[in-house]
Amino acid sequence: MTKSAVLILLGPPGAGKGTQARMLEEKFGLVQLSTGDLLRAAVAAGTEAGKEAQAVMSAGGLVSDEIVLAILKDRMAEPDTSRGVILDGFPRTAGQAEALDELLEAQGQSIGSAISLDVDDAAMVERVSGRYTCANCGEGYHDSFKQPAVAGVCDKCGSTEFKRRADDNAETVSARLESYHAQTAPLISYYEGKGVLSRVDAMGEIDRVAADLAAIVTQVTA
Ligand code: ADP
Ligand code: ADP
Ligand code: ZN
Repeated sequence: MTKSAVLILLGPPGAGKGTQARMLEEKFGLVQLSTGDLLRAAVAAGTEAGKEAQAVMSAGGLVSDEIVLAILKDRMAEPDTSRGVILDGFPRTAGQAEALDELLEAQGQSIGSAISLDVDDAAMVERVSGRYTCANCGEGYHDSFKQPAVAGVCDKCGSTEFKRRADDNAETVSARLESYHAQTAPLISYYEGKGVLSRVDAMGEIDRVAADLAAIVTQVTA
């Protein structure tokens, strides 16, 4: 494992970025860095940035580059990220992608791979509407596609408390898909142009997608 593996997971809401990032953390010892999770923490903490982000997030838009970059940089400055990071849900705009390039260059790091999780829009509403997570450890579940082994008990930590995101409803999902196509999908060609793009068919089962991703990450971190 190289010290500075930086992986990017690109994909619309519900593509499986969070699910796969957690599996890659376990398998490869990388650190998952989700700007969605960081923003939700800022909202919960009631910070100024959190207050501004909340309205945008509940409408399914993208939070300003300024806010997102500030929280991303703070998180990247923490020492555990030197093990290598999986960026889950970042970058989402051209401005964020350029800022990331600058940040990595200043740290003597580079992008190992930007992996696009390719999915059909039509399936995403179902994936997002059925999503829930363990309130204690954050493990992700789905009403139809990924139930705990024992009903109502988290596989990872045994907690019986689960939660759903306020923005995981059909109306907000369409806005989020629009934001994805307008602002984030163009990053696929951006990373293709840099020669670091990989693509994975993310319509298959969770373990199938995980195996495809593991093969890419093994190559990048070899
Ligand atoms: P993202 O982080 O890209 O928004 P998640 O990883 O949270 O996506 O996955 C969205 C929902 O779909 C979750 O409920 C998850 O359990 C489920 N899911 C993830 N990957 C798959 C898959 N390959 N097939 C079916 N359901 C999946
Ligand atoms: P999903 O897993 O469904 O893709 P996330 O948890 O990554 O959703 O993000 C939830 C919301 O947080 C987004 O709809 C957006 O409003 C905001 N957000 C997350 N990451 C970013 C980012 N990099 N840039 C702008 N907004 C972001
Ligand atoms: Zn749990």
